[in-house]
Amino acid sequence: MTNDVWVYAEHDADGLTDLTLQCLARGRSLADQQGGSLSALLLGSALGDLPATLGSRGADRVFVADDERLAQYSPMTYTRVIGSALKEQAAAGALLFPASTQGNDLAPAVTQTLSASCVLDCTAVDVDGETLVGKRLEYDRKALAGYKATGSALQVFTAQDGVAEAVSPETGRAGETIPVAVVLHESDCVSKVLKREIAQKTINLKEARVIVAAGAGVGSKENFALVEELAAVAGGEIAASRAAVDAGWATLDRQIGQTGVTVRPDLYIAVGISGAVQHRVGMMDSKRIVAINVDANAPIFRFSHYCIVGDLVEVVPKLIKLWQNYTR
Ligand SMILES: Cc1cc2nc3c(=O)[nH]c(=O)nc-3n(C[C@H](O)[C@H](O)[C@H](O)COP(=O)(O)OP(=O)(O)OC[C@H]3O[C@@H](n4cnc5c(N)ncnc54)[C@H](O)[C@@H]3O)c2cc1C
Repeated sequence: MTNDVWVYAEHDADGLTDLTLQCLARGRSLADQQGGSLSALLLGSALGDLPATLGSRGADRVFVADDERLAQYSPMTYTRVIGSALKEQAAAGALLFPASTQGNDLAPAVTQTLSASCVLDCTAVDVDGETLVGKRLEYDRKALAGYKATGSALQVFTAQDGVAEAVSPETGRAGETIPVAVVLHESDCVSKVLKREIAQKTINLKEARVIVAAGAGVGSKENFALVEELAAVAGGEIAASRAAVDAGWATLDRQIGQTGVTVRPDLYIAVGISGAVQHRVGMMDSKRIVAINVDANAPIFRFSHYCIVGDLVEVVPKLIKLWQNYTR
């Protein structure tokens, strides 16, 4: 088995993404455990000090494709450039992508180009004897399954939030920067991004210690405002299920779950939320979960620490009062 590890470095206007930093930390540890090296793959245009940042955060080599045709992410051009670079290096070992929208889009395409094997959405990537194993939660997150690839020299994994703790940059540590030639054919550039709007990040639910989330059960904008009042009194952030976002009571950046944000606050209060698996995956690692629901058999009660069976219109004002008295 080859012991080298490669990491795809995703970045945005704020620099390398958090999940990329986690993948780098995991990649560094896997390479060290196996006596291999860690390489980063960086694509984009006007990349500034990103190569140096990757070096200071553990990459031994940073392969850089800096070209204005790569300024905007496009699956076809990015797959072509990554595929060619890895083929030229006869890359073997492990290739980690962040399990982001971009990473989960690219990883299977790159895998196909290189006739490699791929495991998506791993919660862990570990060394297991002579090989690597990607671990995924299966069967409604009830079972942890390990997947090993035996038939290919390169194993591709996408890693989810929590795969490792990002490490701080090391002063004086530098990786070797290696430019990648960008050879693109007309057929690689069939799509063009004409306009790009970056949504303003106004909230950071991931940092919130208390989150109060409202679901379809709140039933109206007025009741949603009541839940917002509870969030304010509790010093927390308001969040929502997809049903509440679809109803127009909250914006998409407040949606918790599979297609929203994953959070791990100290306290998560779910109000009028049934507990569908797509919601649960975004909040199940909260330290304390309190659920308020009229239905004593609501699925959310199966994984809540405190279960309040009742109508939110009666329960929430009482909680607001209790909180006010408690903090007075
Ligand atoms: C591909 C895909 C991705 C998805 N991604 C997400 C995601 O990221 N996040 C997400 O949340 N969902 C997601 N969903 C949707 C998900 O499957 C559920 O439909 C959604 O989570 C339901 O939201 P809810 O619990 O608010 O509504 P419901 O399931 O309708 O539940 C409402 C609950 O409120 C209770 N209730 C009603 N009245 C009251 C009252 N007066 N007081 C107290 N309780 C009351 C009811 O008993 C019920 O349990 C996704 C679905 C798919 C297919």
